[in-house]
Amino acid sequence: MNVLIYGSGQLAQMMYLAAVPLGIQVKAVDVANHSVVDPISKQVLNITLSEAIEQADTLSVEFEHVPEDLLAQAQASGKLMPGMEAILTGADRVREKQVLQSLNIANSAHAIITDIAQLDDSVAKLGEHLIIKASRDGYDGYGQWRLSGKAQLADLKQQLAELDLQAVPLIAEQLVPFDRELSLIGVRSQQGDIRYYPLADNLHHQGQLHVSVAPAPHITDELQAQAKSAFKKLAEHFDYVGVLAVEFFQVGNTLLVNEIAPRVHNSGHWSMQGADTSQFENHIRAISDLPLGNTQANTISAMINIIGCDDYSLDLLGLDHCHLHLYGKSVRAKRKMGHINLTADSYADLAEVMTTLAKFLPMEHFPKLLSEADKLAQINS
Ligand code: AMP
Repeated sequence: MNVLIYGSGQLAQMMYLAAVPLGIQVKAVDVANHSVVDPISKQVLNITLSEAIEQADTLSVEFEHVPEDLLAQAQASGKLMPGMEAILTGADRVREKQVLQSLNIANSAHAIITDIAQLDDSVAKLGEHLIIKASRDGYDGYGQWRLSGKAQLADLKQQLAELDLQAVPLIAEQLVPFDRELSLIGVRSQQGDIRYYPLADNLHHQGQLHVSVAPAPHITDELQAQAKSAFKKLAEHFDYVGVLAVEFFQVGNTLLVNEIAPRVHNSGHWSMQGADTSQFENHIRAISDLPLGNTQANTISAMINIIGCDDYSLDLLGLDHCHLHLYGKSVRAKRKMGHINLTADSYADLAEVMTTLAKFLPMEHFPKLLSEADKLAQINS
């Protein structure tokens, strides 16, 4: 079987690695120049995009910001999974909010801004603590601005005045005083079966994910049910096939959807060591019409992103239950270079391994690691 993935970064690489034992070949598309590449070496293969689409049994994406003409070509082949509507929704916050509203899924109060003058109305309606997001092409905190009080409004309007809001509207969102951020990764088969991974607890710093812990501690049946219900509504709405990630803010006993990602997701990387079947294998299984694998967690996991550095010590590999996954990239500020998966039998044990791991890492690049370890150390289970 042959799979063609749009996008040639680390997610395509990890899907490739998961597909090999299943006897499935994965090629990737470099969407910047439409070339077909090897997902590991990134070497350009001697095949055109049209030929690769023809040869593939299934097409999928590793990120949602695939140019629309390429997506339309993929959709026209009848082999794209998930389909174009789900992918476009993940790439556009206006569409995303509209889908969430139409499915009655709780999300943060917001307004769509197509003219900068509307920002005054948004402040009147939503309050003076806002997060403003570009509706398209923003990720990892890029394309976002914060308003922390009316006094900043004039300045912010000036900054935003240069943008073409007719072409790319903004979403003004009420700043949610959340207790924590959670995500639910699940997978839906071509027959409509759904399997859910346990909720992950995600720690962000400057808009980027730094640490995920799964299963998230202190999950009540009520939270679990809300997360699954939101996932199911979305997956069924799109007749979704493959892995879908839904990110939430937890406020008390309520979950609000922050955003959805129509693909394998950074907050599911823990599943490579921590679950019976990884999210990457399950995505490949789903789109290849194979039975889905068990999504149960075998252990408690932490996933620690390596961001913007490569000066860690490889002696960390000497730690038990510690696994390194590098993406083969050169260092750049804020660039995800790889991740480390840790597993343990209890949160307290996990905290201990995290603290030991810190000795091998340049701590200025891991600002969340030790505070999270301290928090986990307090949990009795
Ligand atoms: P996003 O790109 O929408 O995932 O936003 C990146 C990060 O910014 C999130 O993971 C949150 O930590 C924070 N954030 C985004 N939207 C809000 C909001 N409405 N209220 C509070 N924090 C937010």
